[in-house]
Amino acid sequence: MSDKVSAISRLLHHRSQGLSKGEAVSLPIHATSVFHLPGEPDGSHFYARNGNPTVEAVEAEIGILEDADVVCFPSGMAAIASVFYSVLRPGDTVLVPSDGYYNVRNLLNAQFVPMGVTVRTCPTADMAEADMTGCRLVQIETPANPGLAVCDIAKVAERAKAEGALVMADNTTATPLCQRPLDHGADFSVLSDTKAMAGHSDVMCGHVATRHADLFDAVKTWRKLAGAIMGPFDAYLLHRGLETLEVRLGRMNANALAVAEAVQGHPAVSSVHYPGLGNDPFHQVAKRQMNGFGPIVSFTLASQANVEQFISACPLLSPATSFGGVHSSAERRARWGDDVPEGFVRFAAGVEPTADLVAAVTQALDALS
Ligand code: PLP
Repeated sequence: MSDKVSAISRLLHHRSQGLSKGEAVSLPIHATSVFHLPGEPDGSHFYARNGNPTVEAVEAEIGILEDADVVCFPSGMAAIASVFYSVLRPGDTVLVPSDGYYNVRNLLNAQFVPMGVTVRTCPTADMAEADMTGCRLVQIETPANPGLAVCDIAKVAERAKAEGALVMADNTTATPLCQRPLDHGADFSVLSDTKAMAGHSDVMCGHVATRHADLFDAVKTWRKLAGAIMGPFDAYLLHRGLETLEVRLGRMNANALAVAEAVQGHPAVSSVHYPGLGNDPFHQVAKRQMNGFGPIVSFTLASQANVEQFISACPLLSPATSFGGVHSSAERRARWGDDVPEGFVRFAAGVEPTADLVAAVTQALDALS
């Protein structure tokens, strides 16, 4: 199909393009660890740690969205770990955001610092101006979870390249439909597909995308040797979620913007962060590099008690961690030790009708005042 057709249309019709008469239209689940292999190996499938057709079908679909080669993993953290293990060696320096997903720093501190890797941190907002001298890898997360700061990906990539560093962008909060870091010069795009990509809060998964053949080989080899393999049932669930990604994300993004607009003037709310808001400090840079602003809105209430009261009073909010699922959810991020105020709420928009969601959130806030 021509490149002029949107990526999501190409994804939806990818399988049917190659079908013979009588084959299943839906993606088959190849529930097998071994493949028929008489005689000498000839490059066909032989053992599922090296490759499984259901997983490969999903990698091809995500490859259409990323316009890149893709390696799938059984979680977002496994995807991120695969890049660290493939690239970082003793004596190397890695720069990571101080306000990004906290387990990335935990992984580096637990596994890589003892091996002699130096970890430097910088707030996302300052990443484009950060000191990258001597870095082997610069990791960014934009918008960053949970504070939603944004950095200019192209500027970071240009500066990193000048220092000889690779750039890995965690694109979980945006997805490749809203932003493609590889188009802006990043070397790796990594995602927790557990979130909006799979979209139904029923599977853990992740991927790494890259346009460099050598980096793709390195990540794929690490996966094979470390055994961080996605199972075919999980691959099927991810595939099924991807088929509705655009419609879900369209509603989630619209819901997030509507909720951000509704809460920003509310007396119970002291500050709101959403890069889609015209008055958000990151709006201009976000507008330049994003096609949509994602499903997360962060805002601050007066206290821990207010947050618990708000979440339990709102019938359309699940009190759950994570984001990108079809049900709206919210949580108090200080409970995980994030460097945010006690009353900081990470709100994750689901696909409920917008008017219902805005009314439910507003009423629950009104009950606090
Ligand atoms: N990156 C970001 C931005 C996340 O929010 C998360 C999880 O919340 C991860 C990576 C890790 O993904 P997973 O939970 O699928 O391992």
